[in-house]
Amino acid sequence: MTGVEKESKQIEEVSLEDSIEGARTRVLLVDDQAIVAEALRRMLAEEPDIDYEYCNDPAEAINKAIEFKPTVVLQDLVMPDIDGLMLLKFFRSNPQTKSVPIIVLSTKEEAKIKSDAFGLGASDYLVKFPDSIEVIARIRAHSRSFLAQKQRDEAYKALRKLQQELEVKNQELERLSSLDGLTGIANRRVFDEFVAKEWARAAREKRPLSVILIDIDHFKKYNDNYGHQGGDDCLRQVARSLAATVRRPGDLVARYGGEEFVVVMPDTDIKGAEKIAHALCAGVNEMKLPHAHSSTSDHVTISLGVACAMPSSSTQAESVIASADEALYQAKESGRNQYQLAAGSAVCAKE
Ligand code: GH3
Ligand code: MG
Ligand code: MG
Repeated sequence: MTGVEKESKQIEEVSLEDSIEGARTRVLLVDDQAIVAEALRRMLAEEPDIDYEYCNDPAEAINKAIEFKPTVVLQDLVMPDIDGLMLLKFFRSNPQTKSVPIIVLSTKEEAKIKSDAFGLGASDYLVKFPDSIEVIARIRAHSRSFLAQKQRDEAYKALRKLQQELEVKNQELERLSSLDGLTGIANRRVFDEFVAKEWARAAREKRPLSVILIDIDHFKKYNDNYGHQGGDDCLRQVARSLAATVRRPGDLVARYGGEEFVVVMPDTDIKGAEKIAHALCAGVNEMKLPHAHSSTSDHVTISLGVACAMPSSSTQAESVIASADEALYQAKESGRNQYQLAAGSAVCAKE
């Protein structure tokens, strides 16, 4: 299981555990009359899942709500010092209380006041003093929908966070899966896709496509004498040198496999490819990485096979790669530390 999967499983478990079935209903009454507070206290006393808090000073109501975290507020409309409708407005404009359901408790049955209260964000309106069945039922209903909404908001927030993390991880994975782990240049998969795509494009545009296959000379001996770690370091340095030589943004340098590399150069004829092959060979020579067991040189060298083709829709990239491979074999046969042009490549140069 990946980290992200684990986290999402945890969220699923937490959400189930924290389900609103188990959450407590918290009622805050804001009313200046102690007798109302006492009546409500008695009504709620029989309800073990309901917590009750009373605030008799409307000026303190918001602070009290922030501190008590009610799931529903019951609020009087007529209080000294502050207009109940004004308090409703304060509740709705404070980010910490703006979505808590507010049931207005009023002595007035007037349509205008009811309409004002609902207009300012009241969730419900009860005329004092309703019977306990109705009060408790409404408290539970509003509290449940508030808790459910809160839970949905939290789940969405967690989901968004996970999505963002997943996005970052996917990008990283994409990057890693396109790069060769040892040398940091493009891997074989990228080469296969790139050469097929460029082949089709070159066929459409009737432009040449060049490929250079590169193989490190006497690399087995290098490994045998400098150790696998030394061999890996050598591969990294050769890859860096090749990548530094091929500078056109449309070109690709990739690890072909083992101690072999490949360069793909779209819209490049055999003359251009030959120049690059020469520069690649020279670049590796210039590093002068000691190779005491090479029968070719006292330092690490490469052999290169260069091929250029005029792609067509009826042919495939494999043909130019095979030509480059043959040329590479010729380079090895002819003494290594050199490049050879594939037979037939020159024809493309003239077109
Ligand atoms: P030639 O000049 O004919 O190319 O000789 P060579 O020894 O380079 O060729 P050969 O194909 O016989 O050996 C290639 C060696 O490259 C075999 C293996 O030890 C080494 N090799 C292949 N992949 C890796 C790698 O990822 N790391 C290291 N350190 N060595 C590798
Ligand atoms: Mg090889
Ligand atoms: Mg080799």
